[in-house]
Amino acid sequence: MRPPRPPVADWLAYLGELGYEEIYRQPALAASAPGGGPPQPPAEASTPAPSEDSPAPVPVRSGPAAVIRDGVRAAELARLAERAAGCTACPLAAGRQLVVFGSGPVDAGLMVVGEGPGAEEDRRGLPFVGRAGELLTRILAAIGLSREEVYIANIVKCRPPGNREPEPSEVAACIGYLERQIELVRPALLVALGKTAAQTLLGASGSMAQLRGPWYDFRGVPLKVTYHPAALLRNPALKRPTWEDMQEVRDRLLRERPPEEKP
Ligand code: SF4
Repeated sequence: MRPPRPPVADWLAYLGELGYEEIYRQPALAASAPGGGPPQPPAEASTPAPSEDSPAPVPVRSGPAAVIRDGVRAAELARLAERAAGCTACPLAAGRQLVVFGSGPVDAGLMVVGEGPGAEEDRRGLPFVGRAGELLTRILAAIGLSREEVYIANIVKCRPPGNREPEPSEVAACIGYLERQIELVRPALLVALGKTAAQTLLGASGSMAQLRGPWYDFRGVPLKVTYHPAALLRNPALKRPTWEDMQEVRDRLLRERPPEEKP
């Protein structure tokens, strides 16, 4: 992970990662940022109270014993993926080409969770490899993470037809895979991308405007809700709040799972 950058440099780098080649500094925005920091976004709608604002820190794993445990957990993850590959527990099995189990290292500090595979993911068997996935890769790069450092998964492992939201019964049939993935990876932080992921992991209803904001707790793992990259492609105005969320994620990840010192 790269060291933190100053806020303005962060914001410009983020815009660059998202594909902006030019920006214009408006007088009103300049006035709102007298210290040269990034312009502040408009106030969001109120959010519900977090279930726990300061969850217990996740211990940093290191050393040979951790490597052995990682090997056991990786093998268990591989067995789970094999089981999912043959799963027919819900009607989504009938329309899929490939099960999209998830990808990433078993010792990932960050796990991001989306809704379900799209057409490209279904064809390739990998999560977040379409246009939204490319944007996710750029967002992660903007906070100093390569895609390969992050565990990426979805609520359901098979593509809902026409990219519709998964039915509650389909989520209920599939969620055990994700719960076990989270247990095995034991990330320092979770990010729920979009409403379906947020509502499922939090067991809550509500809009994204209501769910965004606080840190939550998912079985001992701090969880942040932000917008799904597909929503950013439809509505570029969501890039700024997503950036604010991901800055919080980056800062907390640096605290919870600091980069290992190079010898
Ligand atoms: S979506 Fe999940 S529960 Fe349904 S068939 Fe695919 S792997 Fe099984």
